[in-house]
Amino acid sequence: MKNCISCNMPLNNKLDFALNDEAKEYCIYCSRSDGSLKSFEEVKESMIKYVIKTHDLTRKEAEEGVLIAMKKLPAWKNNFK
Ligand SMILES: [Zn+2]
Repeated sequence: MKNCISCNMPLNNKLDFALNDEAKEYCIYCSRSDGSLKSFEEVKESMIKYVIKTHDLTRKEAEEGVLIAMKKLPAWKNNFK
């Protein structure tokens, strides 16, 4: 089983993949409509919104958590240096 290299979501079935293409390394939520990977800022922003909604955190708390999580993900490790 693969996980999204951008947000770590488990890619359990075809519909989870960008363009529903199981050869892709990232999920439908981290991709644009043309199937390319979203930018660091775009993914960060959508993860922050998701975390605020699901964990009832302030934006600052959410952003800190998201940055810690993103640091560990293959797609973004080069953004932290
Ligand atoms: Zn993803």
